[in-house]
Amino acid sequence: MSNISVSIITIGDELLIGQTIDTNSAWMAQQLNEIGIEVVRRVAVGDVRDSIWKTLDDEIANADIVLITGGLGPTSDDITKPLLCEYFGGKMIVDERTLSHIKDIFTKRNRPFLERNIKQAEVPDSCIVLFNKMGTAPGMCFEKNGKMIISMPGVPFEMMSIMEDEVLSILRKRFISDVIVHRSIITAGEGESFIAEKIKDLEEALPTYIKLAYLPGAGMVKLRLTGKGANELQLIKEIALRQEEIANRLEDIVVALDDVPMEYILAKEFINRGATLGLAESCTGGFIAHHITQIMGSANYFMGSIVSYDPRIKENVLHVQKSTINKYGVVSEQTAIEMVKGASQLLGADYTLSITGILSPDTNDTNPVGTVWMAVTDKQDIKTKKFLFHYDRPRNKEIAVQMAMLMLWKFINKKL
Ligand code: AMP
Ligand code: MG
Repeated sequence: MSNISVSIITIGDELLIGQTIDTNSAWMAQQLNEIGIEVVRRVAVGDVRDSIWKTLDDEIANADIVLITGGLGPTSDDITKPLLCEYFGGKMIVDERTLSHIKDIFTKRNRPFLERNIKQAEVPDSCIVLFNKMGTAPGMCFEKNGKMIISMPGVPFEMMSIMEDEVLSILRKRFISDVIVHRSIITAGEGESFIAEKIKDLEEALPTYIKLAYLPGAGMVKLRLTGKGANELQLIKEIALRQEEIANRLEDIVVALDDVPMEYILAKEFINRGATLGLAESCTGGFIAHHITQIMGSANYFMGSIVSYDPRIKENVLHVQKSTINKYGVVSEQTAIEMVKGASQLLGADYTLSITGILSPDTNDTNPVGTVWMAVTDKQDIKTKKFLFHYDRPRNKEIAVQMAMLMLWKFINKKL
């Protein structure tokens, strides 16, 4: 098993004043984790020569690999490139491939190529150049005392493309002999402690090279098996076997064996059944519809959502009775039921879900903030469910969407 360590240095004054959020580190750490390389430290520094120099000293001593982003722009505040040249020795030379790529970019954008733009194609002769097809600043790979140091631009999509095209395969070849295999089991309806108890013996019987992680989310727990080993085929076989074993034990609460968002899982259900979906949304304001329509091909099963935010729209469009709203309130089981009936008729979908809730304090409503009612129907049966969410408004909305999709999934699968 490899124990290769990485330090990440992000460079830029904007990171220190909080103007730019360091998304680069998080993304890089996820990618490295996927191939079994551990990030042991993340450091952010300003565009300051002495800070960068000292951080390089520290992090090269600290890890086998140092990944750097930022400070490679053509403006004078970006000082990383000449600094690296000085740090690793050698002189600046023009990288011809980068030069012609930069000239192409300037021609395409119809901008004059100036003498000073040649500087953008310069790299220290002590590095291996990592081509940047998405921008002008190339990545650079250095070696020192058996350590590998890689510098990339700060612009996230440029960094990502260099990581995907070049860096990850360089690291894999150089540092990794083991392969990593992941398999997931997505569950809903039970907490992690219940699950842990239920599969205790299976978890204990896992070989040391297969680890099980519990990743709880909104109403769901993802179980992820990660295997490391030299023999990929054997590892895939073994981990699939363990996945099946655990999934069989958890039968009732297993939603999927692929690690994909709930909207994908639902899409598969609707397409496989040739069924259609309709929505009546109040408190989520169309957010469920947004999730559903993120999926390519959603037009094949999604009829639409009636965003009936104001009570008058619930009455006039969905035909919720005024008396129902007066008697039980807008956020009530009865209103949710009449909403789902109205939407089911209007949209003519095989399955329809309605949602009504209170996500901010409202003097007209006696329900506690976070109360949400949902109803689902297949034109015959109607099932309802009450929720109480405890977070702030945006998070409550997000959770409500996840729970709505989960409720649909359970209803379709007769598990509600
Ligand atoms: P630079 O390579 O320093 O010219 O960075 C270019 C741009 O990339 C900056 O203006 C930031 O908007 C963005 N950026 C730099 N570092 C990061 C980072 N760690 N995470 C996300 N964006 C970044
Ligand atoms: Mg910068």
